[in-house]
Amino acid sequence: MSSKKILNKKSIDFLEKYLNNASPTGYEWEGQKLWMDYLKPYVDTYITDTYGTAVGVINPDAKYKVVIEGHSDEISWYVNYITDNGLIYVIRNGGSDHQIAPSKWVNIHTKKGIVKGVFGWPAIHTRDSSKEEPPKLDNIFIDVGAKDKAEVEKLGVHVGCVITYPDEFHILNDDKFVCRAIDNRIGGFMIAEVARLLHENKKELPFGLYITNSVQEEIGLRGAEMITHTIKPNIAIVTDVCHDTTTPMIEKKKQGHTEIGAGPVISYAPAVQNKLRERIIETAEANKIPFQRMASSRYTGTDTDAFAYSNGGVASALISLPLRYMHTTVETVHKDDVENVIRLIYETLLKIKPDETFSYFD
Ligand SMILES: [Zn+2]
Repeated sequence: MSSKKILNKKSIDFLEKYLNNASPTGYEWEGQKLWMDYLKPYVDTYITDTYGTAVGVINPDAKYKVVIEGHSDEISWYVNYITDNGLIYVIRNGGSDHQIAPSKWVNIHTKKGIVKGVFGWPAIHTRDSSKEEPPKLDNIFIDVGAKDKAEVEKLGVHVGCVITYPDEFHILNDDKFVCRAIDNRIGGFMIAEVARLLHENKKELPFGLYITNSVQEEIGLRGAEMITHTIKPNIAIVTDVCHDTTTPMIEKKKQGHTEIGAGPVISYAPAVQNKLRERIIETAEANKIPFQRMASSRYTGTDTDAFAYSNGGVASALISLPLRYMHTTVETVHKDDVENVIRLIYETLLKIKPDETFSYFD
């Protein structure tokens, strides 16, 4: 297993289709349908909830329940205000980055379909070079090519429409995946690949496996907060992205040292259950899967927190995929890390026995 390549043409094709489909926070269901479709041959049944979280379940009747989880939403903008001369001001839906907005194409999602727009920006010639203004939420604006507010509205654009970037999937130098929203479409992808491997290798799990693609992580872990009460798991292994801190202008004394190509990143944080994390580390060592360590004070800031602090406490752990340029349109990850996160989750599941409590007092 460890020497074999994990990703195949079919999985990369799915990743591309899944990434290219927009899935803004609060509007995840089309992406969830693509994901459920891919996962279908590998699970027994599905759970979905009111807000769009989707869960593929293996062994739905088992009492002991293990979650593997990623989140399905991507950061976006909301139309907040349309000026009389037809320009659009935005607010964030998730941690969208004002600094990268100028000169970008956008897709405005309306009932009439996608309306194209651009984030305009004053020309270098017209700016005062002695006091350059950085892009901020109150000075970035979208131009949809309309002469006034009425023309904007005629296109179907109104306050509350969500806005995404159209940037699509590319492979850079053979082994780097680049796209917007790799955070965290790649998480849903990796847990689906775990299910595929379990199926293809005919592994029978002695517990219920809940392959969970949560909505609304980017605005505060909301989808995970909801679904953990529906599932009531015994264990949750969460996967998300973390920063490659080796690119310019990142302070390693503050952010630590993690990088792409060096393996999955295993978290230390109060929400991470120590015995479960040690099981993951022992699994990595036994299978010669490279890994890195990361510490978080107070919160992991991922769905791990939502699972850990639910249902009276759920043994939870976080395995992150290092990524460059988070929340830009060129998020970049290393294919080897993607395969090693999949491998690490897969091998860890094979080491979990039903009825394990992970208690510190046993
Ligand atoms: Zn994010």
